[in-house]
Amino acid sequence: MKRIGHYIDGQLVEGGDETSPVFNPATGEQTAELALAGPAELDSAVAVARKAADGWRKMSLAKRSNVMFKLRQIIVERTDELARIITSEHGKVVSDAAGEVARGLENVEFCAGLMHHLKGEYSEQVATGVNVHQVRQPLGVVACITPFNFPAMVPLWMITTAIAAGNAVILKPSERDPSAAIWIAEAFAEAGLPAGVLNVVNGGADTVNGILNHDGIDAVSFVGSTPIAQHIYSTAAANGKRVQALGGAKNHMVVMPDADLDSAADAAISAAYGSAGERCMAVSVLVAVGEIADELVDKVAQRMPGLKIGDGTDPESEMGPLITAQARDRVASYVAAAADEGATVVVDGRERKFDNDGFFIGVSLVDNVKPGMKVYDDEIFGPVLSVVRVDTYDQAVELINSNQFANGVAVFTRDGKTAREFEFDIEVGMVGVNVPIPVPIGAYSFGGWKKSLFGDTHMYGPESFNFYTRRKVITTRWPEPSESQISLGFPTH
Ligand code: NAD
Repeated sequence: MKRIGHYIDGQLVEGGDETSPVFNPATGEQTAELALAGPAELDSAVAVARKAADGWRKMSLAKRSNVMFKLRQIIVERTDELARIITSEHGKVVSDAAGEVARGLENVEFCAGLMHHLKGEYSEQVATGVNVHQVRQPLGVVACITPFNFPAMVPLWMITTAIAAGNAVILKPSERDPSAAIWIAEAFAEAGLPAGVLNVVNGGADTVNGILNHDGIDAVSFVGSTPIAQHIYSTAAANGKRVQALGGAKNHMVVMPDADLDSAADAAISAAYGSAGERCMAVSVLVAVGEIADELVDKVAQRMPGLKIGDGTDPESEMGPLITAQARDRVASYVAAAADEGATVVVDGRERKFDNDGFFIGVSLVDNVKPGMKVYDDEIFGPVLSVVRVDTYDQAVELINSNQFANGVAVFTRDGKTAREFEFDIEVGMVGVNVPIPVPIGAYSFGGWKKSLFGDTHMYGPESFNFYTRRKVITTRWPEPSESQISLGFPTH
């Protein structure tokens, strides 16, 4: 059995008494065992990172930027290799995995411009003969804790900016699909990053709790489910760390009566079932406004049998398996509960049979869903699309604004006025107008509202440079010694 360890101080190292299995979700076979870091491994990684952080913050911005340019080149040239590693442990189809890499690469490209992003500010003559300037300095050692569903993109969102800003990093990837993180760490080393600046420490909940309580870690970035995000936020903050914790989602797609229904049905299928619904920006609720509901549900249902579900390495496959057998069974239980709660199961993914032991399930469509049903209230994180029927635009907005999650949302309409009102009215962090998955490009930042994000800083892009730096303000005066005098009054201009 292959054993996956950690990457500390530029070396692959073993360590940790406990292990966790890594599967190929398309076959159901265990392919590796992952070493889970205990306190000794974490202490050693933090000690290495603290030392490396001191050297790295002194490295010129030009040299740091050069690492980003080289990293970009490595990832561009070897995207397929990284995508196949992702598919082998996550299950998503290779083209989707390559798409994830491309979206992570956007942040590498943004960070290559770190000279610009780390610029300070200067004010001349704030008082007579006095100037003020502000610089951005790194925090020190940052821990990045990431989810299974984007094993390359989410690490690249965090670690790249943290490193560009002059920090050292402890990356704790998901224990389900850890190999992409190690690949990225080795690629950074090849790009010229000094050993110890980026360390990968594998582990589960105990390792995470060790991070949250470690005095040698200054800040924590987290992406994962809402209950864990809440725990990360409150524990890290209580321990005096800077923290941003992105949580789960329930993303709605509103279809107005004037929308083009074929385009809306195509978009709903793509956004609900792409990556088997295991995306934090997946559409999981279709809100049909007015009399179009029957026609819209028909159009979505007609498209579903054509979806090709299979091994992610098969170029014909459009959707792969779920991450684990437990995740698949959990999804099935929501479809069963929906029927019991009075919703209409239009297409039942449990009926689709697969002739291997992979963690596959078919796609489901559930109509006449209402708040209060489990299928609506919970984040399912699988290929289940619920339809909520409302009569008016106002009801659609009220439904969405009452939801505890507020990551992404979309409106489909041909009417500019409706779209403009929606942008204004909706209480969600990322909004799409005829765009079902509105993940902002790298020059903006990514984040939801309410229980989809704890903290005040969004991820990647400009906000991320704020998160990973602290500002220092310097007030300067070069007085003539002959003018020196004692003054006990509070200094004013
Ligand atoms: P998860 O919360 O189970 O795990 C995320 C990380 O937390 C992993 O590294 C895991 O090891 C660690 N962890 C798990 N349980 C823990 C515990 N009890 N104590 C401490 N640490 C623990 O999430 P997941 O299943 O890996 O990922 C899917 C979730 O992530 C979904 O809820 C999805 O919406 C969310 N997500 C959100 C975004 C976003 O940007 N808002 C992006 C991607 C994924």
